[in-house]
Amino acid sequence: MNKLKAVCVYCGSNFNGDIHLRNAIKKLAEILVEEDIKLVYGGGSVGVMGLLANDVLELGGQVTGVIPQFLMDKEVGHKGITEMIITENMHQRKQKMADLSDGFVILPGGFGTLEEFFEVLTWLQLGLHNKPIGVLNVGGFYDPLFAQMELMVQSKFLKPANRDLVFNEADANILIDKMDHFSAVPDEVWYKERDLI
Ligand code: AMP
Repeated sequence: MNKLKAVCVYCGSNFNGDIHLRNAIKKLAEILVEEDIKLVYGGGSVGVMGLLANDVLELGGQVTGVIPQFLMDKEVGHKGITEMIITENMHQRKQKMADLSDGFVILPGGFGTLEEFFEVLTWLQLGLHNKPIGVLNVGGFYDPLFAQMELMVQSKFLKPANRDLVFNEADANILIDKMDHFSAVPDEVWYKERDLI
């Protein structure tokens, strides 16, 4: 591992108690700390967000939270993380989280998680950044989403090359390893291959 110094994790502000998800969160935290990768996340102390931040902190890792002022109370902004960045609004929050990170991991979550995932994915599709995006598909939680992407490809709304931009792995070790080996395609090839211009 050498390219990933900070990874942004998008995940739920709720947690459903699933033991497999709990274990996956712990394993991801262990890998981040072992590989000296800083966690960048939404700054909350609740749900999957809070569990992941606490696991990383307990193992001695670095955690940067990015949260807009109005969510500090609502999501119970985490009081014990290494660094908390407070933004004026959601757009600034998401831009900051993306700017601070070398890649993005998606854990189970709700609308907010999906919105954040698809925003960085569309930015990658448009060539606005060249950072790897990986779904940690715990227990097949995101299988229906990948089935929808396949339907979008078959319906000609999504190019296969763009569908393939997302890593889909159930094992955090494999996912982080693949993300670390992700290499950007030169612009000429990028645009030609993917027929954007
Ligand atoms: P959720 O997956 O809905 O539990 O939300 C996870 C994270 O996404 C939380 O930090 C929320 O603040 C954030 N979030 C929720 N709704 C939105 C939204 N509409 N746009 C962007 N982020 C959101």
